[in-house]
Amino acid sequence: MLQKREKVLLLRTFQGRTLRIVREHYLRPSVPCNSPLCPQPAVCRNDGKLLSSDVTHYMIPDWKVVQDYLEILEFPELKGIIFMQTACQAVQHQRGRRQYNKLRNLLKDARHDCVLFANEFQQSCYLLRERGESMEKWQSRSIYNAATWYYHHCQDRMPIVMVTEDEEAIQQYGSETEGVFVISFKNYLDNFWPDLKATHELCESILQSRRERENESQESHGKEYPEHLPLEVLEAGIKSARYIQGTLNVNKHRAQIEAFVRLQGASSKDSGSVKVEIVRSYVPCQISLPTLAVWDRGLVFFPPQLFVYNF
Ligand SMILES: [Zn+2]
Repeated sequence: MLQKREKVLLLRTFQGRTLRIVREHYLRPSVPCNSPLCPQPAVCRNDGKLLSSDVTHYMIPDWKVVQDYLEILEFPELKGIIFMQTACQAVQHQRGRRQYNKLRNLLKDARHDCVLFANEFQQSCYLLRERGESMEKWQSRSIYNAATWYYHHCQDRMPIVMVTEDEEAIQQYGSETEGVFVISFKNYLDNFWPDLKATHELCESILQSRRERENESQESHGKEYPEHLPLEVLEAGIKSARYIQGTLNVNKHRAQIEAFVRLQGASSKDSGSVKVEIVRSYVPCQISLPTLAVWDRGLVFFPPQLFVYNF
């Protein structure tokens, strides 16, 4: 029997209005678990890639571990990995298509012992997000809940290690369910794969670059990039009509080189938008045409005379 839930999404339009969208979400009593320990393979319809029987535990990475350490999870020595749908969707939404495709290819790769578990379509695994709960906390809670379900589904015969970067989750869930362990990724590598040197080196270099990013961010007072002009100058420039404010829309087909700027209050691309070329591939960026444009937090500021380039 399918169960129906309704997901409510609140989307903000360019004009600043909030749209309420209701999506139907169907839950099934069983989805493929892809474990050789499954007590009812026919009910689960395990007709795809299965996890190996030759493992001492299953490993379930939390959403952030999949985002940050995918290159390590790709090591073929790391067996018995279950990627939860919640973690995969977090990669899709927050890391973009390239990283998501890497993950999909890994799941399809028959040489690599890992599977996908569609936890958000399974009746007992799907959790509603609580009022006030952050998306990140809901994702970790959902993944832990699915890990527990999976452990019991395999009749408590295979220990499960959930690997997370969330200290609070380690404290909260670490000793909640016998047989389901919750530890950090570094701890996991140190304890389960002490001799797999390449993974330790890669993990260290990922941590090092993260530390450097955090330091840079602290040095620039939490800003990810240096400001081209101080905020006061921009505000004064808008007031005195030296600058016009608009929203930058990057052309997704030519994201490295082309974007449009929509003037505030303008409704369509054709009226009041201007085509610009991007100098650097990484936004936020400076814009070469018109040369005096300044980018700041999703907004672009132009001297008004440059809007002669209307398209
Ligand atoms: Zn099963």
